[in-house]
Order: sequence, then structure tokens, then C-alpha cells
Amino acid sequence: MTRALYPGTFDPMHNGHIDIATRASTLFDEVVIAVYDMPPKRLLFTTDERVALARESLAHLPNVTVVSYRGLTVDCAQVHDAQVIVRGLRNVADFEYEHQIGWANNQLAPNVDLLCLFCDDAYAYLSATILKEVASLDGDYSHWAPAHVQEALRTKFTHAAETNRVSHSDTKLSHHG
Ligand code: ADP
Repeated sequence: MTRALYPGTFDPMHNGHIDIATRASTLFDEVVIAVYDMPPKRLLFTTDERVALARESLAHLPNVTVVSYRGLTVDCAQVHDAQVIVRGLRNVADFEYEHQIGWANNQLAPNVDLLCLFCDDAYAYLSATILKEVASLDGDYSHWAPAHVQEALRTKFTHAAETNRVSHSDTKLSHHG
């Protein structure tokens, strides 16, 4: 039995990620999506929210499970008995990055292999960062993420806008009050 680990931040999961996870699910007996708990970047969604959004996105794939992890990705692979780490490649920059991380992972755990899948052309320029930026500006991102992720983004940004409004009116009150 071959089990693959597909790690990432998934903040939030979008159609590019879903495409890679779906294709990996046809290549391996089992795929574990590993949501990285504390990446060194600012996140919009909590770990629990990212896990829940990923679970709902992939619920139709019976051989795919979603977990969260902290620490080294290769340690997570060993814990889940995964022989392969799957990653998606969009461009040369992704390739350079994966090549370097892949080298480090191989030094740390030579028994865990790396499989990179080229992304679908439709998502070649899609990133979670672009998705969040367009969502924050109320653009149309309906082709980039499933409905429940769109809903979660709307909720986040509506809440943020309301909080901003409140804090602006607080500021006005404190200035004039
Ligand atoms: P990002 O914030 O760029 O979406 P993640 O850490 O969540 O990055 O990405 C997890 C994995 O998904 C990585 O292997 C990444 O290269 C891949 N990935 C990111 N965007 C896409 C995309 N549009 N199509 C295919 N794979 C992607």
C-alpha cells in the first residue's frame, strides 16, 4: 500500500490545491493532506478553519484524509507512514523552491520520496494570496475556489470590514468626544 502526504498551508484550500489532491488520490492508495500549523507567514484562517475547509473540499474522495501538523514535514510523513511527499508546481520559482526543500528533506529522511505534479493550466497563476486579495476587494473569484471556501472568505472580509468601520467610528468618537 502506498500512502502520500500532500503538505501545505492551504490558507484557504483553492481549486489548484484540489486539482493536485484529486490527481494524487488516483495515483496512491491513500493521500493525507497535511495542513501546516504555524508557517512563517500571516494567515487569514486558523488551523482548525483551514482543516475544516480542506475536509469539505475533499470529502468526495474516499482515500483522502486531512490532518494538521507542526514541525518538520518529513516527521509528519513518518508519523503517517507516508512514503511520498506530493507537491504542486506552477512555475520555475516553485521548482527552485521545491528542489531546495526536497534536497533538505531527502537529507533528513532518505526513505521519503518527492513527487511534484505540474498544476493544471487553469490554475497556473492562482495562489492563496491572489485569491485572498481578490476576495478582500470583492472581485469575482468563483472559478478559483469551491462555494464553501468562497462563503468563508466572504464571512472573513465582511467581518473585517465591520470591525474596521467600528474602529473608525470609535476613533472619531474619541477624537470628537
Ligand atoms: P499557496 O499559498 O501558494 O497556495 P500552499 O503552501 O498552500 O501555497 O501550497 C501547498 C501546495 O500546493 C504546494 O505544493 C504548492 O506549490 C501547491 N499549489 C499552490 N498553488 C497551486 C496551484 N494554483 N495549482 C497547483 N498547485 C498549487
